[in-house]
Amino acid sequence: MLEFTDEERLIQSEVQKICENYDNEFWQEKDRNAEYPMEFVQELGEHGWLGTVIPEQYGGAGMDTLEASIILEEIAASGAGFNGSMSCHGAMFIPRSIINYGSEEMKKEILPQLASGDKLLQCFALTEPNAGFDSTAITTRAERNGDTYVINGQKTWCSRIHASDYMVLVARTTPLEEVSKKTNGMSLFLVDIEDAKEQGAIDTAEIEKNIRAAVPSYEVWFEDLEIPAENLIGEEDDGFYQVMDGLNEERVVIAAEAVGLARVAIDRAVKYATEREVFDRKIGANQAIQHPLAEAHARMTSARNITYQAARAFKEGRDVGEAANIAAYMAREAASDATDAAVQTHGGYGVATEYDVERYYREARLTHIAPVSDEMILNYISEHVLGLPRSY
Ligand SMILES: Cc1cc2nc3c(=O)[nH]c(=O)nc-3n(C[C@H](O)[C@H](O)[C@H](O)COP(=O)(O)OP(=O)(O)OC[C@H]3O[C@@H](n4cnc5c(N)ncnc54)[C@H](O)[C@@H]3O)c2cc1C
Repeated sequence: MLEFTDEERLIQSEVQKICENYDNEFWQEKDRNAEYPMEFVQELGEHGWLGTVIPEQYGGAGMDTLEASIILEEIAASGAGFNGSMSCHGAMFIPRSIINYGSEEMKKEILPQLASGDKLLQCFALTEPNAGFDSTAITTRAERNGDTYVINGQKTWCSRIHASDYMVLVARTTPLEEVSKKTNGMSLFLVDIEDAKEQGAIDTAEIEKNIRAAVPSYEVWFEDLEIPAENLIGEEDDGFYQVMDGLNEERVVIAAEAVGLARVAIDRAVKYATEREVFDRKIGANQAIQHPLAEAHARMTSARNITYQAARAFKEGRDVGEAANIAAYMAREAASDATDAAVQTHGGYGVATEYDVERYYREARLTHIAPVSDEMILNYISEHVLGLPRSY
């Protein structure tokens, strides 16, 4: 079975202490009102957890994907579910672009503000209405004009822009028609959202959907937004490769969150099954209730093992593509199985918001479509692991 070191267990318990301040009613209220849990995110920032992967020299904790996975799993498992873990994973990981590719000046200026939680960079703008999983089809333009880039275009599914000071924007610096390879010609930029508003060059509209509390998502329009040329992150025209570089890490941490969601769903179901009496016996005495929960536990444990195998490989600098993609796939399956079994165990109360399992069920469904769909994960495994021809 999976074993954590003393240091890793300490991280778990420190995060659990913070989570204890936010009870079931808090998360139910946030979900009911579609309200972003800013106070929770701020408290994580005050304790330095938003700076988990930021190097110590820039004020962060200098830890890695492994520790971040532990934190996010514990948040989800505390009862917060995705309302908790998804509200803060962007702030923890979107800064990776700056850590890996930003200039020294940018790192010195921006990272300490993010590590302390004083400023939030938790908005990543890649998807466009006509460019879903085919990111190379984006048309948002960044044109160089002296010391600035001028941005025009539209993004969609921009999550948490309303609670973010900065955004990492992916735009075309060379139009698709002019590149030799469609993956060339895209670049990353740091956008100061307040400055963009002051210029009157950005407009937003929230996308109505469920699961709005942790991941409120927006359509965003840019019209002649001017950003300083030094806000280019990394090399001009290399943005696609810089984005791809972060995908495996994203898959690992979201797998850890899905494992946390599976854990809390199983815990809640077991608790209910040992309390609820029907036909003069606890419902948990029925094998029809036990077996789905036992299966869900077996699947969750197995998903958890591969998730941390991937996280350790990442930390040790080993190739992680296969493990990260399998972890992402197995963890979302485990979350769906566990939340489904938890709803079933609760009978009619499975849909009553006070028992939370209905929310976990909704949240587990999301893992199959975003940030990356089941199909794209299976495409990766087919092509890169099984060596089958690329299908698209
Ligand atoms: C809650 C939420 C938050 C999000 N937050 C952000 C964010 O902050 N920033 C951001 O940039 N994006 C964000 N996204 C976008 C997300 O990451 C996906 O890129 C986006 O949902 C996919 O775009 P689409 O709906 O246009 O899908 P499409 O690309 O139109 O795909 C539709 C379906 O077809 C399948 N499909 C497409 N091509 C293939 C193929 N070749 N083989 C097999 N199946 C295929 C897909 O798997 C999918 O099931 C978010 C999405 C959601 C739902």
